[in-house]
Amino acid sequence: MKIYNTLTKRKEEFKPLVAGQISMYVCGPTVYNYIHIGNARSVIAFDTIRRYFEYRGYKVNYVSNFTDVDDKMINEARAEGITVPELADRYIKCYLEDTTALNVEPATKHPRATHEIPEIIEFIEQLIKNGYAYEAEGDVYYRAKKFKHYGELSSQNIAELEEGASEHVNDEEQQRKEDPIDFALWKKQKQPDEIAWQSPWGLGRPGWHIECSVMSTKYLGKTIDIHGGGQDLEFPHHENEIAQSEAATGQKFVNYWLHNGFVTVGHDEEKMSKSLHNFVTVHDLLKTVDPQVLRFFMASVQYRKQINYSQENLEQAKNILQRFKNTLINIDYRLEDATSESMATQLRQTIQETQTKFVTAMDDDINVQNALAAIYDLLPLVNANANSAQADKEALAQAKELLVQWLSIFGIDTAKLIQKSQTSDDEKITALVNERDEARKNKDWAKSDQLRDQLKELGITIQDTPQGTRWTRD
Ligand SMILES: [Zn+2]
Repeated sequence: MKIYNTLTKRKEEFKPLVAGQISMYVCGPTVYNYIHIGNARSVIAFDTIRRYFEYRGYKVNYVSNFTDVDDKMINEARAEGITVPELADRYIKCYLEDTTALNVEPATKHPRATHEIPEIIEFIEQLIKNGYAYEAEGDVYYRAKKFKHYGELSSQNIAELEEGASEHVNDEEQQRKEDPIDFALWKKQKQPDEIAWQSPWGLGRPGWHIECSVMSTKYLGKTIDIHGGGQDLEFPHHENEIAQSEAATGQKFVNYWLHNGFVTVGHDEEKMSKSLHNFVTVHDLLKTVDPQVLRFFMASVQYRKQINYSQENLEQAKNILQRFKNTLINIDYRLEDATSESMATQLRQTIQETQTKFVTAMDDDINVQNALAAIYDLLPLVNANANSAQADKEALAQAKELLVQWLSIFGIDTAKLIQKSQTSDDEKITALVNERDEARKNKDWAKSDQLRDQLKELGITIQDTPQGTRWTRD
């Protein structure tokens, strides 16, 4: 299996540290609001990757953090007149509700920055001891230039970084630093009502980057297999995580760095951001969009590619999901009846080939588009066999089993997908269908056609199969 490593900028053969096991850390949200579709994209991309590893037989130890203290948290809590932990509790609950609706597997561990303060302080002390960090008036900074690999992950040029940082040289914080590109590990309390913890450097709170180094090391070990996050985290967040972790432990931090692409919104494919007013929260979206459709839409684009969020693209995902649903219903319908069967050699062979194509595509840096294309090609053959007089039940059962497995990697619960929505007009429809059957028996074609049209208007499609009449909602 090959995955693209941002650090080396090429696809590499994936080799876990321990055979059959994967340690995976994914940067989680700052919990000051509902998650937006950009956050959801990252969560879904890495959940899909995790599910594929599990499908391939790996045990995945999956850690994803909650950033529950930072400037945004402090400002929002102050604006609402509540405490930072109260704000965090509220939006962690919302995060879990939204991601559960999107059928994201729960993380093995969801650590919170504020629950790890002693470990964070210890980690910073280690960095000071190793000569990589220094205290300055109650803040603690990291000497970026001292770490010789600084800038490698995100291909940053140190001279350019310094030039950029020197523009802010008059900021109060910048003046406390030895070098403009140094970054904060610990921030001293600015106002007496601001949330803070005791530390060797006085009252303060951790910077954002340090929490991920500490939690990844604590819950997964000094070196881990995979670290994931959005492309926007490559610099400075992940660059700083590498610098902190490797300077503290003296060991390689992460073997494979994976980054998911952005979400753009609308026809002009603008990058989503709050300032552009195209900031869509999952909470709002799920009021009108089926969570399975949103999940499938996001999972069906390869994780490194940009996703364009639009009504048309969502509609397209819905239609594809409907095709899967129809095929699964066709199979189930056919497996239930007891008519004779025969062996469909071509179908059996195509199922095997599809399985190979699926794994080959997914093994190539989780190429979901190619994997899905292989499955789409199989559907007409399965449908034709399920609707023929001589069905191959064994092959159909196998096709069903594989479809259920494949779709579950994309986060689709097929049992939920094919659940027949019992609505109040079911009885009426069944009565019309029976009336039409009666008309056909009596060779009253005019009446039979008229009833078919009437059903069509109700959004019902009639299918005359060798086993009798079936009706499905469009
Ligand atoms: Zn992080």
